[in-house]
Amino acid sequence: MTAQLIDGVKTAERIRSNIKDEVAEWIAGGNPAPGLATVLVGENPASQVYVRSKQKACGEAGIESYGFNLPGTATQEEVEALVRQLNADPKVNGILVQLPLPAGLDEEKVLREIKIEKDVDGFHPLNIGRLAQKGREPLFIPCTPYGCMVLLEETGIKLSGAKAVVLGRSNIVGMPVALLLVRADATVTICHSRTKDLPAVVCEADVLVAAIGKAEMVRGDWVKPGAVVIDVGINRVEDASKTKGYRLVGDVAFDEVKEVAAFITPVPGGVGPMTIAMLLQNTLRAAKMSK
Ligand code: NDP
Repeated sequence: MTAQLIDGVKTAERIRSNIKDEVAEWIAGGNPAPGLATVLVGENPASQVYVRSKQKACGEAGIESYGFNLPGTATQEEVEALVRQLNADPKVNGILVQLPLPAGLDEEKVLREIKIEKDVDGFHPLNIGRLAQKGREPLFIPCTPYGCMVLLEETGIKLSGAKAVVLGRSNIVGMPVALLLVRADATVTICHSRTKDLPAVVCEADVLVAAIGKAEMVRGDWVKPGAVVIDVGINRVEDASKTKGYRLVGDVAFDEVKEVAAFITPVPGGVGPMTIAMLLQNTLRAAKMSK
């Protein structure tokens, strides 16, 4: 069998185009443009790229972005003071603190400082806590896990009662994805670096989400025929044939797994583009909630 591709680029484009229309309608209705503040501390080049692409995406959707850069020497108090200032600023509907913060800063304390109504990254402990509790609704769902769920929805498969296996238990991907799958009534197994006999666990999965950051670790013979595979991993592997000297691969051996699975996300072009689309969605939601 050759799996059907789940096209994250197309899906993200559709979502972003809908958001653009909704933002235009919102502004035409006499409301101010939604605003996203980005907080970047230090000079991590990857973080700079991520923040720039988020700001560019905001611009394309008609969302105002306000960039705040603090030096890597910024103190805990300075970062928290900036977050408090943004909490109080009515132009700012969403606050995104780009992670990771430089060593020495307490990430959890900074995230806790963000007003829950502006927590468009969905990492405030209250939002995550609500995600974990039955009958409670988080105000925002973390963007990458949210994107995974939208891609699963694209396949039309029924999650209720499905056996789902999530590889990885990080705060930003694995754990929130697992919580979302439980909310969708899947039966969820969470795997991590101490899991024994990973292939045996994976081969039970109707739905597999891989978020471990290990290049092509999931092999074709691990996967149940007909499974839906969402590959969150983004890994660089050396490739002399590329001008950059490397190429990007996922946590799943795509060429092998596509012969077994029913649906699969490519890397790049799967989950990656969804993260920004969901951030824009959350920012628009924050603006509408603020009225
Ligand atoms: P982390 O490093 O924070 O977490 C990795 C998780 O994988 C941990 O729970 C770890 O277990 C588990 N793990 C590591 N090695 C193994 C192994 N050999 N077997 C089983 N489990 C293992 O990574 P993130 O969650 O931040 O990211 C995961 C991947 O997703 C990365 O490739 C990252 O680049 C990508 N990513 C993509 C995004 C996007 O598309 N927009 C956004 C965010 C991340 P333990 O807890 O025991 O240490």
